[in-house]
Amino acid sequence: MKEQEYFNVADIFGENVFNDAVMRERLPKKTYQKMKDVISQRRELDLETADVVAHEMKEWAIEKGATHFTHWFQPLTGVTAEKHDSFITAPMSNGKVLMSFSGKELIKGEPDASSFPSGGLRATFEARGYTAWDCTSPAFVRQDAAGATLCIPTAFCSYTGEALDQKTPLLRSMEAVSDQAVRLLRLFGNTTSNRVTSSVGAEQEYFIVDREKYLQRKDLIYTGRTLFGAMPPKGQEMDDHYFGSIRERIAAYMRDVNIELWKLGVSSKTQHNEVAPAQHELAPIYAEANVAVDHNQLIMETLKKVAGRHGLQCLLHEKPFAGVNGSGKHNNWSLVTDDGINLLDPGKTPHENVQFLLILACVLRAVDEHADLLRESAADVGNDHRLGANEAPPAIISVFLGEQLQDVLTQLIESGSATHSISGVKLETGVKTLPDFMKDATDRNRTSPFAFTGNKFEFRMVGSQDSVGEPNIVLNTIVAESFADACDYLEAADDFDSAVHNLIKQLVTDHQRIVFNGNGYSDEWVKEAEKRGLPNIRSMVDAIPALTTKKAVALFERFGVFTEAELASRAEVEYELYAKEINIEAKTMIDIAGKQIIPAVIKYATKLAESINSITAACPADVSVQTELLVQVSELLAETKEGLAHLQDAVEQGCRMEDDNQARAVFYHEKVFAAMEALRRPVDELEMLVDKEAWPMPSYGDLIFEV
Ligand code: ADP
Ligand code: MG
Repeated sequence: MKEQEYFNVADIFGENVFNDAVMRERLPKKTYQKMKDVISQRRELDLETADVVAHEMKEWAIEKGATHFTHWFQPLTGVTAEKHDSFITAPMSNGKVLMSFSGKELIKGEPDASSFPSGGLRATFEARGYTAWDCTSPAFVRQDAAGATLCIPTAFCSYTGEALDQKTPLLRSMEAVSDQAVRLLRLFGNTTSNRVTSSVGAEQEYFIVDREKYLQRKDLIYTGRTLFGAMPPKGQEMDDHYFGSIRERIAAYMRDVNIELWKLGVSSKTQHNEVAPAQHELAPIYAEANVAVDHNQLIMETLKKVAGRHGLQCLLHEKPFAGVNGSGKHNNWSLVTDDGINLLDPGKTPHENVQFLLILACVLRAVDEHADLLRESAADVGNDHRLGANEAPPAIISVFLGEQLQDVLTQLIESGSATHSISGVKLETGVKTLPDFMKDATDRNRTSPFAFTGNKFEFRMVGSQDSVGEPNIVLNTIVAESFADACDYLEAADDFDSAVHNLIKQLVTDHQRIVFNGNGYSDEWVKEAEKRGLPNIRSMVDAIPALTTKKAVALFERFGVFTEAELASRAEVEYELYAKEINIEAKTMIDIAGKQIIPAVIKYATKLAESINSITAACPADVSVQTELLVQVSELLAETKEGLAHLQDAVEQGCRMEDDNQARAVFYHEKVFAAMEALRRPVDELEMLVDKEAWPMPSYGDLIFEV
């Protein structure tokens, strides 16, 4: 390993970011001031300013070694996309080239939109699509094997202005919730806050495996998850990995990841082992939602890229290994004013904090009324293996409030007003030398999909490889709606104090069914939730219709976040994606079973038969064990062959259904997926019987215990 270098984080933090400090230093005063206004007050940017900024940005990037620039955007594929252009212009008469970059190139790009999913918003012959600079998320220089590239975060729209990405609706939703939150603050006499930002901190879970072993598994290569694999004798039952000390090789990897991220201005803060062996987590410090969404993409890219340098492979899939805990992303969300007030901070005595109680009641209403949309926002193909599949969190949306807030709400509901708050007490450890401290008024609940955690909500359903864009679009918009309706009512009231009191009581009474403080993993909760009428949406295919209900269309159109056409297009994209991904998984299984597993098992069985023959030829020994094994293996081999044939049939049928994306997705969900499970079962049993030497790929044990 390389000699350890030590450095001061502050020296490298943001080194490759065109941030406020760089702009202040390099831009003419007037231009700098204009940019500040554009960013902080969401003003429009004029071309003259853009030209000056572009020039300085280019000079700065070239000093960092950049040769190319790219508009970096997030189409509906779940990952980022970019098209690289070099800074060089046509050679001059002396044969040299000039490096140029104009304001126009900075603010507008034109990738070929027809190569990205649009869900029918745009036919291939109408290929025009535009990327537009999101100047509220800073540009950065990325250094890697391809050299250094100036990356400009952008939004991606069609020729007619429809959103083809995550960024555009996210920015629209941020405006919506800001406008309505400010309106609400004014009612409480706040005259100083002018904007409210949704702040997001996304905790990222991931697996790390050895790259050599990874390369021996076609399923991991093509689909990001294992499609076969028997459980090792030791799983995660000992809980000895969680927060365990981090192994040397992984520690060196994490260190490099942090350095890369810090240079990009991503405030990577915590890292620790997760529940499953080989599973880890990384969390940055929260930022404005659009920046946080960009940063989460950078985190995922960096985790993957740096792993290669350490002979490792990062798996971002939600369920790389069956039977082992999967990976998710905790989306921490709060609303903070431009003068620093966190609207979700209850203070020490929440029962007296009327503004907080109203906001809390509004969030409860939003989550209860649009639970289906929130659930949809966390749906992706890999997440189907987690949500509602005996793993964290359940597919039912509920809100955890904790003892203190629950008590305040109960007082409100039962006696019409709240008079006291439970407060934190001293933590007694029984050891004199340990410092005394006050414990939190509320314990945590790890099983809740939507938990209040002190001064923020933590939405825990998001999949590990999914963008956090959509969950925040939904959160911002549904809360904007609750705020808007509350404001409509309160602005018309004669007596504000009694109106707000009545409204809070009404909202918490009407929506108390969404609150659940118990164990979200239990079967009792599934029954209880059904009684309460809460939706339990088990799969992505069942979740997608929530996007296009009348209720959803009315909500998103009211706040200008999505048009009906945009929503319909997103549903189409998701159905298509679902069928495509399952199709790839099924074909990979067919390939592995047909070309690797069946031949290996035949070889093994043949050798076994030969050895039985040669033993019995040599002496009258008892070969019943060998014979029994041979019979068992042969039976399972026959089952495997049959399972393979069924899966092949199902895939052929699926491939023939071309026109209707929804019907095709449903078919893949119900038929193809079931055929995959049926093929897997005998193969996993075979893995337990066949000699390890003869098995054609590394086992679960090799992958997750030997990193
Ligand atoms: P917890 O212990 O509740 O998981 P952490 O302090 O570990 O909380 O933070 C988890 C994530 O939540 C981090 O990314 C953190 O920056 C983020 N976070 C903390 N406070 C807020 C807030 N007010 N709004 C949004 N995210 C927040
Ligand atoms: Mg958390």
